[in-house]
Amino acid sequence: TQISTLIRSRLTETPDFPSPGILFRDLSGLFADGAALRAVADELIEGFGPIDAVVGVEARGFVLGAAAAVAGGLGMLAVRKAGKLPGEVLAESYELEYGTATLEVHPDSLPRGARVVIVDDVLATGGTLTATLRLMERAGWEVAGIAVVIELSSEFDGRGVLAASTDAPVKALV
Ligand code: IMP
Repeated sequence: TQISTLIRSRLTETPDFPSPGILFRDLSGLFADGAALRAVADELIEGFGPIDAVVGVEARGFVLGAAAAVAGGLGMLAVRKAGKLPGEVLAESYELEYGTATLEVHPDSLPRGARVVIVDDVLATGGTLTATLRLMERAGWEVAGIAVVIELSSEFDGRGVLAASTDAPVKALV
């Protein structure tokens, strides 16, 4: 499609970053292009029915989530790495290749029953978004969908992992 061609033209792939054996996809070039960012923002929240807010996952999910939220006239909620949010938070830890990571959210930012779309840049193993789904469930928010710019479907089965946690549709632009 047109949008995937646009994204591919603004995408860089760097071998052995941040560590040997990893091919790192970076969307900085897309973020720097106003028309491309706008097109992606519109596409990320399209087709999920009525939505109350966009949830962005730290850190590139903040850029995409905020752009998509403004495009849709919606608010944006941050799912942050541990220790960044003041006050009462919900926390979920998950396994990384080496060690664990923790994500946190403010549960009082939206009423229970609110419908959200979760946005991030890359879906790889699905660990990050599975932890985010657990946070949404504990906050009482209904996930209308998950939207990522890039799904690494030939390297990982992130989509299969997410299907174990939610019936919500998963949309990948590339
Ligand atoms: P997962 O938890 O294994 O699905 O990895 C997804 C998370 O790691 C997302 O928050 C991404 O931002 C980040 N990530 C994984 N691979 C890449 C990459 O190649 N480029 C940029 N971010 C990545």
